[in-house]
Amino acid sequence: MDYQLKFNVPMSSPDLSDEEREAVNDVMRGRSLSMGPYLEMFERAVRDFTGAAHAIAVNSGTAGLHLGVRALGWSDGDFVITTPFSFVASTNALLYERIIPIFVDVDPRTGNIAPELVAWAVADWEAGGTKREKLLPRRGAAGKSRDLKGVLAVDVFGQPADYDSIRTVCAANGMRVIEDSCEALGALYKDRAAGLLGAMGVYAFYPNKQITTGEGGMIVTNDDELAVKMRALRNQGRAPNDTWLEHTYLGYNYRMSELNAALGAVQMRRIESLIAGRQRVADWYFEELADMDGVELPAKEPTTTRDSWFVFVIRLASEIDRNEVIRKLSALGVPTRPYFALITDMPYLREKFGYQTEDYPVAADLGRRGLAIPFSGVMTRDQVAQVGAALRQVLG
Ligand SMILES: *Cc1c(COP(=O)(O)O)cnc(C)c1O
Repeated sequence: MDYQLKFNVPMSSPDLSDEEREAVNDVMRGRSLSMGPYLEMFERAVRDFTGAAHAIAVNSGTAGLHLGVRALGWSDGDFVITTPFSFVASTNALLYERIIPIFVDVDPRTGNIAPELVAWAVADWEAGGTKREKLLPRRGAAGKSRDLKGVLAVDVFGQPADYDSIRTVCAANGMRVIEDSCEALGALYKDRAAGLLGAMGVYAFYPNKQITTGEGGMIVTNDDELAVKMRALRNQGRAPNDTWLEHTYLGYNYRMSELNAALGAVQMRRIESLIAGRQRVADWYFEELADMDGVELPAKEPTTTRDSWFVFVIRLASEIDRNEVIRKLSALGVPTRPYFALITDMPYLREKFGYQTEDYPVAADLGRRGLAIPFSGVMTRDQVAQVGAALRQVLG
């Protein structure tokens, strides 16, 4: 069988129209390049769409998560439960504040943090119990306060985690929840908007996300106090009544420019059709890849009452050599990405805390078998068929 370049399908593409280009040009012609009308328009659009009381635009999803951690006051030596099966930014937001991440394994269907393991970890922690030493990192935790502050959960690939279970456990133990919804703008959990299921949530707008601003993010929350704090921290620590050179808090420059906000404001006008476009492509994949030997398709939880597809990740059967599949597909002109590599396997985390892959068997298995195939809302039926044909040739 030969593997010559036959196709040319991009891994992902943003869905941009003349409307976006016109809005960005409008900023270029005007006076306000930062903190102007488009920022307000964009924030309002996200509030209207999600029902959030507050939406705070920032210059990346990572920045949004960092502000969430700061606003909750999680800090040096605190412990927070999170997931190893995510993009590194979710854990990095904790590490910036020298928080010690307690990783628990994930649900084998969705890859989302397993609520029963969160409950198990919290119960054991509160009891000062026998399993606790297993939860702690092998090094790097000595002499810390050992306060378990909360959970940072991630809506993996656009599907919300099981927040009712997670919140019940947290509420009973004085813990708070941050929702990393950077992959899930538009998804609904039991008809509630992803992003609003914890104390605060964060969306991200890198070019492969549901909407893009080039780079950018948005925090949403229904908590007035947290919102005021995060607005101040975004803007160099200026509290509401501070003047330009007054800074009540140690803050950051995490502001989003008007150019990015203009792009985002227009994308939000088109949000329903952007999400529908991604759903259509996902449906085509389900048609195209149904019953393909060796390929497991994404699973949907009944709690996800509306999908919002971020990436399309298939799982290969254990006996298939994923690297070989990646190589052959690439030779055919079909790019793919392993999804995810475990956060606990990153060299800086291993070195600091000594977590090991085998500590998280489910996440490790998903990480070994997961393969993101080309996906965006602008893919054509024909491109989906090409990916299907390439997979059939490589696996067949
Ligand atoms: C995209 C993403 C982020 C944040 O991304 P930025 O590039 O900082 O905007 C955070 N967490 C997850 C799970 C993501 O997928």
